[in-house]
Amino acid sequence: MRGVLADDAIVRLLGLRTFPRDAVEDAVRAAADVLPEAARRALAGEGLGGLGEALLLEGQFGPDHFVLPPARRLYYRLRPLLPAGARALLRRRVVSREAAAGPLRWPVEERFVVFAEQVRAALEASGTERAAPWWPDDRACAVVLTHDVEGPFGLSRLLDLLALEQTRGLSSSVSFVGGTYRVPDSLLHELRAAGFEVALHGWRHDGRLFESRARFHRRLPAMNARLREWGSVGFRSPMTHREPSWMQDLAVEWDSSFFDTDPFEPMPGGVMTVWPYVMGRFVELPYTLPQDHTLIETLGETGPRIWLEKLDFLTAHRGMALVNTHPDYLCRGRTALYEEFLDELVRLPQSWHALPREVAGWVRERWEGPPAAGPPRDAAPRPASRAAGSQAARR
Ligand SMILES: [Zn+2]
Repeated sequence: MRGVLADDAIVRLLGLRTFPRDAVEDAVRAAADVLPEAARRALAGEGLGGLGEALLLEGQFGPDHFVLPPARRLYYRLRPLLPAGARALLRRRVVSREAAAGPLRWPVEERFVVFAEQVRAALEASGTERAAPWWPDDRACAVVLTHDVEGPFGLSRLLDLLALEQTRGLSSSVSFVGGTYRVPDSLLHELRAAGFEVALHGWRHDGRLFESRARFHRRLPAMNARLREWGSVGFRSPMTHREPSWMQDLAVEWDSSFFDTDPFEPMPGGVMTVWPYVMGRFVELPYTLPQDHTLIETLGETGPRIWLEKLDFLTAHRGMALVNTHPDYLCRGRTALYEEFLDELVRLPQSWHALPREVAGWVRERWEGPPAAGPPRDAAPRPASRAAGSQAARR
């Protein structure tokens, strides 16, 4: 995993790039008590770089964290042969066992947030400088809506789901699987014209993309070709299987296959941060709200109670509220839960409703900062953000 993450990734994520490194290290060590033990050990042994890997690359869960256990690999191979009922039953059994044993808290994992706020406050108290704002215009939070379309049924329900957003003045990013169902060009045009973003949801939805590095690289050229063909710059892995260093070969500007905390995914764990960051060649936008199928299928929720509880936490701390829902699940009378949630989102004061690629652009600029000197950066015009003017985005 070496080399994927900048040595000072934690410093940049916290918006402290311009502060003296020694002062940042002191503040980080003073605030680290609140973090999990494995992260504290990494900080003690390898400094800020080690802490970044432990948290932002999930290194705290050990070297085999992204390796699927043999039983699960076998399951994905047999899965196409199993009837749907058996698949759901197996998934529920495995999932509930894993969720109970999860090392992170859920749905609110507050430890990194407490840590981040303590470090920023300590540094701001020590001098005249301010930490970089989390969002353009110093907005109170970012709101990002995303969808994965699992199969042809979801594809057929997609526009109905998006209409719920459009009527509220919202838009979202839609990820399609690249190699299993055909996405009509007319649909891609329609989505873009209406202000939606199009992204890639892997090549097949079979749980085998990360089975081995060789398999990942066999599918890589086709995935990158599809990204080019669609003009897409974003990715979410099917079933959030993931491996940060392999994923560096994806031709994308952003990824959203990671999450702050989610014990219900096949590779549970989490990066603990509710703010995005640069993970090698792309910006990682971890989703921070439970997935719809977790709420509905696994937990049997009928309302958005858990989403709203998490949203309160995210807005109280200027975090990013990024949710992933599926037209494949949010249909047939289940849309009320999503509509209620959307109604809350549009009522949020001072929030930045943005597409993933807009947030990724903001994170890049915040990460690298304006050049100390040199020619102006406006040689190439950037697409204007809807809620924040480009002036504000430049800070
Ligand atoms: Zn999926």
